Amino acid sequence: MLGAMQNWTMRITSVIDHAAREAGSREIVTRWADGTETRTDWSGIRRDALKMAQALKALGLKPGDKVASLAMNHSRHLVSWYGVAGMGGVLHTVNPRLFEDQLEYIVTHAEDKVLCYDAAFQPIVDKMKDRWTTVEHYICYDSNENAPAFEDWIGEQDGDYEWHTGPETDPCMICYTSGTTGNPKGVQYEHRSTMMHALAGLQPAAFNFSASSVMLPVVPMFHAASWGLPYAGAMAGIKFVFSAVNDPAVLHELMLREKVTDSAGVPTVWLAHFQYCDAEGIDLPPLKAATIGGSACPKFMIERLMKNGTRVQHAWGMTETSPIGTVGGPTWDWDELTFEEKVQKTAMQGRPIFGVELRTVDLDDMATELPRDGKTSGALQIRGPWIIKRYFKAEKDAVNNDGWFDTGDVGIIHPDGTLQLTDRTKDVIKSGGEWISSVELENAACGHPSVAEAACVGMYHPKWDERPVLFVVQKDGAECSADDILDYLKPQIAKWWMPDAIEFVDDIPHTATGKISKKDLRDRFADYKLEA
Ligand code: AMP
Repeated sequence: MLGAMQNWTMRITSVIDHAAREAGSREIVTRWADGTETRTDWSGIRRDALKMAQALKALGLKPGDKVASLAMNHSRHLVSWYGVAGMGGVLHTVNPRLFEDQLEYIVTHAEDKVLCYDAAFQPIVDKMKDRWTTVEHYICYDSNENAPAFEDWIGEQDGDYEWHTGPETDPCMICYTSGTTGNPKGVQYEHRSTMMHALAGLQPAAFNFSASSVMLPVVPMFHAASWGLPYAGAMAGIKFVFSAVNDPAVLHELMLREKVTDSAGVPTVWLAHFQYCDAEGIDLPPLKAATIGGSACPKFMIERLMKNGTRVQHAWGMTETSPIGTVGGPTWDWDELTFEEKVQKTAMQGRPIFGVELRTVDLDDMATELPRDGKTSGALQIRGPWIIKRYFKAEKDAVNNDGWFDTGDVGIIHPDGTLQLTDRTKDVIKSGGEWISSVELENAACGHPSVAEAACVGMYHPKWDERPVLFVVQKDGAECSADDILDYLKPQIAKWWMPDAIEFVDDIPHTATGKISKKDLRDRFADYKLEA
């Protein structure tokens, strides 16, 4: 027997239709790389997206074709999110920080036909043009010197266009993971998965948007679908303030002037903002909420933001999970917690939002489910409607028979559902049959006043298989010894977790998304020998 409700296909064009209809005059502000500013609104974004869809069709693109963007955060990039999907295409947001080989690989692997880019990335385009053999057309978002300018290109259209329709399982966006081994892998999001993910992001336990929210997303639109914000924000009809540069002075001024209430970004964004405010002797901006994720948010950051009256939403996710998996926010017992307990809880990665199922399994057999006891750590697995099933063009599914995807993360699940991430499966150190969390060691070391950055890796040991070695970059002008750091760590960690060696280095290698690359660190120290 069938129910009797209307059939409504989940296509993300309905998101921009809604935003234009119900919040049409809500502003979208862009501060461009050259310092100029433009203002449009949700109606304007929809109008331009219709023109872009028309312009793509005029170039001969067909539904399913891929359009790349190589761009920072701005309103024309936002137009592309809806314009490409609106003609049935798939937007491929390319991370400009990738290495040349990766840039060549992902654009040709995705078979991108059009590439829209910021003038600031002209040098990348010049270098890569011969290698991007699938790209037939280049459009420049903010100049007409080397390619048609975006505004002129869409300006030739009248916007009299009907959105392409089709099944809700059609793809609308592709993002590549910047894995530290092998080629990047494509994660192709569907209209349906994107819509459900964005709806879930509106939960009070997630982004908690209201119509009066003003969001300045620092998380790039080229990384992990900008955490779904361009869709969730449109659903809620919020005001967006974009900055095409990430200079803390610019962000700070925009936050104050545009009365920004919410922001989202990786922890380093806030680190730079703290440094800026300290150097200028000024207060942090009075934000209501800061969503922080992509890597672990340190306690001192949470503390400082919370003291500023900012709710910290510490989130965990990955490109393969659209990306939101868990978000931290006030729990049912929040009012009974002390400030220190609140900080402690927020330093964990939060709870799964509705739609996401999480579990941990034994690291040795990768199958036995572990208790949610707040103690036992294991390999983190996830499943749900916006979690990857299969990488783009892969022959096999990326999930097991029950639909669980191995995240490659290691964590502990607490009885109230809070996830506490402790490591990556590739980085966790096995010493004498017991697991040591490299991340916990790093976090503990980072609290030392002389330590700028620390990375811990397991090195071969003849007796224990592996023992931790901690690589440390000291702050400018700081001078501390290995013993100082060991003394500092002693009261914080178990005795058998103590690193066998502390090595001072000038720098620690990072991936294109700014995360520590332990693979490169291991390669660099391939001949390293620990004494028995
Ligand atoms: P990406 O797909 O590049 O966004 O990277 C996803 C990975 O970033 C995850 O698998 C985690 O290892 C890491 N990550 C994301 N959010 C957090 C967080 N809040 N705390 C610690 N690690 C995180």
